[in-house]
Amino acid sequence: MELKKLAISEKKRQALVTMGIDSVEALLTHYPFRYEVVEETPLSSWEKDGKVTLEGVIVNRARVVRYAPKRSVTRFQIVCQNKLFEVSLFNRPWISAFQVGKTITLMGKYEGGNRITAASYNFQPLHEQEGIKPVYALKEGITQNDLACYVKKAFQVLPHQENRIPDELIAHYRLISRDQALHEVHAPTSSAMLKQAFRHLKYEEFFLFQLVMQGLRKNDHAHGDKPRKQFEQDEVWELTRALPFALTKDQKTCIQDILDDLQSSASMYRMVQGDVGSGKTMVAAFAMYACVLAHKQAAFMAPTEILAKQHAENLKRLFQDYEVEVEVLYSALKGKEKQRILERLVHHEIDIIVGTHALFQEDVYFYDLGLVIADEQHRFGVEQRKKLLQKGDKVDFLLMSATPIPRTLAMSLFGDMDVSTIEVLPQGRKAIITKVVKENSMRSILEEVLTHLDQGDQCYIVCPAIEKNEDYAMRNASDLYEALKESIGRVYQIGLLHGKMSSAQKDEVMQAFQKGDYQILVSTTVIEVGVDVKNANLMVIYDANRFGLSQIHQLRGRVGRGDRQGYCWLLSDSKDVDAQARLQILEETCNGFEIARRDLALRGPGDILGTRQSGVPGFILGDIIADSNILEVARKDAGIVLKQMETGAYPALKRYLDTHLREAQCFD
Ligand code: ADP
Ligand code: MG
Repeated sequence: MELKKLAISEKKRQALVTMGIDSVEALLTHYPFRYEVVEETPLSSWEKDGKVTLEGVIVNRARVVRYAPKRSVTRFQIVCQNKLFEVSLFNRPWISAFQVGKTITLMGKYEGGNRITAASYNFQPLHEQEGIKPVYALKEGITQNDLACYVKKAFQVLPHQENRIPDELIAHYRLISRDQALHEVHAPTSSAMLKQAFRHLKYEEFFLFQLVMQGLRKNDHAHGDKPRKQFEQDEVWELTRALPFALTKDQKTCIQDILDDLQSSASMYRMVQGDVGSGKTMVAAFAMYACVLAHKQAAFMAPTEILAKQHAENLKRLFQDYEVEVEVLYSALKGKEKQRILERLVHHEIDIIVGTHALFQEDVYFYDLGLVIADEQHRFGVEQRKKLLQKGDKVDFLLMSATPIPRTLAMSLFGDMDVSTIEVLPQGRKAIITKVVKENSMRSILEEVLTHLDQGDQCYIVCPAIEKNEDYAMRNASDLYEALKESIGRVYQIGLLHGKMSSAQKDEVMQAFQKGDYQILVSTTVIEVGVDVKNANLMVIYDANRFGLSQIHQLRGRVGRGDRQGYCWLLSDSKDVDAQARLQILEETCNGFEIARRDLALRGPGDILGTRQSGVPGFILGDIIADSNILEVARKDAGIVLKQMETGAYPALKRYLDTHLREAQCFD
């Protein structure tokens, strides 16, 4: 229902729309982000600097003192529980509101003695206000009162909210109704009822998410009619002879899972997850080799050109004694060169094509695409992956993720995807020594870093920004680069790398660093993925608190790839205790699973796992870590309900699903 129905002024309506509230229904699901318990603070429990809520009677005329432009303090006295108090109220210079004899309700801080600093006030009796009060997230132009009022109106025009979850499930889990839950969330009658409301709404979020995810999966991967890929598994394993090392046990298991998938009649939809450096690329290579032996083409998507090129080079080297044609495609390739590759691709003169998003552009055609692999899958949108999958018929699909998460969680979040995990790192890999430095400066560590450089190590220095930005006080790569050149540039070779440079420039710098021409590379997070530089054993990260944990873990995965010890320094002058505690996690553990788990708990899955997709309902209340048991139950339930829908059950829910599937699937 349109917001216009609520008689909200146009200005306010637009403010609501910028908050993502564009319908009356959306108002009801704009849940409070926290609650405040309003109750009178008994005088006996008042503490200096503690919060107090009280009711009193004004006993003298208010005075206003203006101490700066637009700055004032209003003072008056009240009697509360037979005691006299002096009240200060900042920046409300209206004397006439505070008439002697009026009863006033105040919320604020007790300063000790007889002094109170009020943060808010009103003239409604306190006992009428006591209870659990919702606090909404706001944008400019909308107040708490506005929102509370609109929600009230919304309930008036939408008197009853139907359940979305099937009634059987509501009964089974003894949930309150959706209608009741929504009322309780916006106007709790008790904390017990509020809990019940959350139970319903969280389950609903997870259930609907699962329904759409699994519905998508069903549509995408109609089971059972894929032509089985024809190859001998033994022949694939022969490839181990071309390797300078033995595969780890986990790599072997992953490869075996994949070979079985390729030979089955159901399309593969599998994720290989493993920590940075666990050797996922090799698993991909075996998968692609199997596909090639079955006379089909494989596409390997990488998020950056540098990474695509590196993959292509490694694969070419691996397959140099085999009849496997490897090529690389990226946007910067133009004209004849690109044309030539596209032609060879469509004529099956290329077996494996590695590339960036250039791979799923319209002019790319395959002769017979059999396998798509997305490296660093979270860097690709769901739509992009799909575009590539559509370049073949019943294509097998493999995703690679360096943000390993528990298996059931992965299955839940990715809609019943199969998961293979590489837990053990190749032998001899040393954990990177990580240190948190509590200032945003290299002053205290510079000596140490330079000593390492003198011993032949190379160092990445990562900044959150490319250039100076007035709005955000953070280190930028350009200025730091200049400053370093100024101070140590005569002794050390320093390079600069960032996302605004052309890919030719980036390549040049990266290659120079790889060759050892630079000892220091000042960079943004463009180095995040993939690239191997054997002597790069040092990394310094400025403003580390601005990055996600998994992201830092990925970044530091760039160092210590050779035989020498890797070091990572996390610089941050954040005074935020939580931020420092978060960074401490990285000092304590190098286990990607543990870090991903903590990061998910802190930031939610959308950003980290690339699961955000239009059409797929998200979570507002649900917390995938804390509520993982609900998520798991909802996953199973959704699967059952989806099956029953095929026989005509749950028509209303089916309509809901179809609408969302349509939205999720139109991506042109
Ligand atoms: P990631 O899982 O982060 O993508 P890579 O596939 O880039 O890791 O592998 C990291 C490095 O480990 C590469 O240099 C690769 O050649 C090497 N490697 C892969 N598998 C093994 C193994 N079984 N034993 C030793 N080194 C390996
Ligand atoms: Mg990798």
